[in-house]
Amino acid sequence: VKIVKTISEMQNISINHKKEGKTIAVVPTMGYFHDGHISLMKYARENADIIIVTLFVNPTQFAPDEDFDRYPRDTEQDSRKAEENNCDYLFRPTVEEMYPFGFITEIRIGGVTEKFEGVTRPFHFNGVTTIVSKLFNATLPDIAVFGQKDYQQTIVIKQLIRDLNYNIKIDIVPTLREPDGLAMSSRNIYLSAEYRKKAPGIYKALISVKKSIEKGLRKRSEINSLLIKKISKTPELKIDYACAADAETLEEPDEFRRDRKIVLLAACYLGKTRLIDNIVV
Ligand code: AMP
Repeated sequence: VKIVKTISEMQNISINHKKEGKTIAVVPTMGYFHDGHISLMKYARENADIIIVTLFVNPTQFAPDEDFDRYPRDTEQDSRKAEENNCDYLFRPTVEEMYPFGFITEIRIGGVTEKFEGVTRPFHFNGVTTIVSKLFNATLPDIAVFGQKDYQQTIVIKQLIRDLNYNIKIDIVPTLREPDGLAMSSRNIYLSAEYRKKAPGIYKALISVKKSIEKGLRKRSEINSLLIKKISKTPELKIDYACAADAETLEEPDEFRRDRKIVLLAACYLGKTRLIDNIVV
């Protein structure tokens, strides 16, 4: 894998590959790779000629009281994993490269950013859409690969691609889980052994409510109450939100139509660690 640190070098590389008629897939990440990241790399490898993984812990998507400074980082191990998984380029710019002195632009999307994650993290998606635009402009991909783990983010990026006319196909890869159901996340290392045992309670609740929906539960208030009840069976899980929404639009009708897919979204604190998960029914 070739490490690239500047935007201009990254752009030149991509332009040259495009001249050769090659297709490019980008996998945006914040690093500290786990098997979820690897499954995105593998998906990209199978669906494009050239794979660019980006590794940038983006300060603008963290609030001042969030974990930017202590976010886990291990660039050497990440480079090794990118190499082992046949990625062609690891784009690893510095904060100064992405946000040089005088940088003042922000991309803000309305609507879909304002609920769920957007309530607790009101500036988060502005940071995400701004950096993802910059990463698209640096890597010039044909395909962008994102994980279902960050469900609302996938909806926001789809909106970004539509609204700013990016000629990029977005592909969503299913959430990779630990054997006990916990969604893999770089943040899972924050969990104490005690909390780690409680963490799968979120996924168990999601699965249980999924079954009730499949049996016919369609009223949103009833689905939400059931989800809260099921998560609360693990009292250590402090619920931030636990809601059902239309899987495509994130709208919240009183009653879901039978021909619409539903996404169950949950965010919970375990001690100070915030975990998110979702399931589509
Ligand atoms: P992150 O480095 O946490 O920002 O994640 C980078 C990409 O990997 C995002 O598109 C995430 O949705 C995706 N991702 C994170 N965790 C998982 C997982 N457990 N399974 C699949 N994709 C994941």
